[in-house]
Amino acid sequence: MADRYLSFTATAPGRFLTRRLGLPQPAALRRWSPEHPSLTGDLLHLTAGKSTLDLAPVLARTGLPLGAADPAAVVLDATGVHDVDTLAEVHAALHPVLRTVAASGRIVILGSPLDADDDHHRAAVQQALEGFTRSLGKEIGRGRTVNLVRLTDATSAESTLRFLLSPKSAYVSGQVIGVGAGGGQWAARDFGERPLAGRVALVTGGARGIGEAVGEVLARDGAEVVVLDVPQAEADARRVAGRLGGRALALDITAADAGERIAAELPDGLDLLIHNAGVTRDRRLVNMPADRWSSVLDVNLASVLRTTDALLAKGTLRPGGRIVATASIAGLAGNAGQTNYGASKAGVAGLVRALAPRALDTHGVTVNAVAPGFIETRMTAAVPLFIREAGRRMNSLAQGGLPVDVAETTAWLAHPASGAVNGQVVRVCGQSLLGA
Ligand code: NAD
Repeated sequence: MADRYLSFTATAPGRFLTRRLGLPQPAALRRWSPEHPSLTGDLLHLTAGKSTLDLAPVLARTGLPLGAADPAAVVLDATGVHDVDTLAEVHAALHPVLRTVAASGRIVILGSPLDADDDHHRAAVQQALEGFTRSLGKEIGRGRTVNLVRLTDATSAESTLRFLLSPKSAYVSGQVIGVGAGGGQWAARDFGERPLAGRVALVTGGARGIGEAVGEVLARDGAEVVVLDVPQAEADARRVAGRLGGRALALDITAADAGERIAAELPDGLDLLIHNAGVTRDRRLVNMPADRWSSVLDVNLASVLRTTDALLAKGTLRPGGRIVATASIAGLAGNAGQTNYGASKAGVAGLVRALAPRALDTHGVTVNAVAPGFIETRMTAAVPLFIREAGRRMNSLAQGGLPVDVAETTAWLAHPASGAVNGQVVRVCGQSLLGA
């Protein structure tokens, strides 16, 4: 399962040989660790057009020193870009500094929300920022990421900016993330070491793989974690829960009464509902029997719809709660042999889009999804060698992600200060070449 190519290109002969052959050059990504919790280097604040954002206090609170010497992070405020001339200021601001941005550095571009009432010149150049972001992400290299955040005020986006400007977002690149207004009812202590203290999280499929990593990161951030998995995986679920100081719940999420069983298990309520359980049963449609179709749709979509409905209706999800579902780039881009899986994961994105505004209005709960790309787990270890190798390299970072990358993204969406992030499907895919 280890990525031997990545280790090989980290050696001098490996680098020499693979460069000569024109092969991909993945950079070892810097991820969060207790010893290295933040980026090391300056944060460079640039502006294109006239901005009205009050960004400086938010950037100051990231703890990164403001400066321009080999920056580890660049924030380009392009919210004031309104015509082709001010769009040129994006080029003028970034062109001279790009070479100096450190390896594993971050470029975050800020844009305005796309508004149906916008003047068409403004709409054109604000949309242009997406093509710009995605193109720069594909060419920048050296483990550096480029993302676009559409926002109206800096305070509501503070948790998002902190995430994107940290090592926690190592495998998130080429994304466009919308942050609404409001949702800013958080306290400075929420950015302490245990932002999820006092919160109860339920992680479905939490006994292994991505779900296990999600449980670990949420527990690190202070949450009490309930590890739900099928009865056959109960021993693993107990082992994980024991390590996290949480508890296990042996339950098949496709059971008709799964929502009721969870509600009964959590009479005091639940704050973070993480729909992670998922299965694949690949076959081309022409060879796919109905049971392979329905088993995938049942775990990946129908049970997500059923349990979400039951837990919202019963009031188990407390106000301020978060639902994070798991989509997949296969659902966004499509994948041969995965009509069942692709349908189920695209369905998750549809659920998020439609439920998010209502769940926030009625229950005070946000609804978002993570869409993993190629993540190194047992699921992808089972993929045949050459397809696996292609999957690993076909993204801007030229490597697979780790379960912790999905987990850190989930923790950002679950954060108490992320109340203005709603209805988003965020890909954790190293900017996969598949799909948008
Ligand atoms: P995994 O197979 O390693 O783990 C999935 C877990 O879900 C297992 O513990 C399994 O027992 C549990 N599960 C399955 N059916 C269940 C049910 N009916 N009730 C309760 N638990 C159930 O998979 P993973 O790679 O960790 O994937 C986790 C999620 O991420 C899935 O939704 C998957 O579709 C999605 N995903 C993974 C990748 C990847 O590259 N690994 C890519 C895109 C999306």
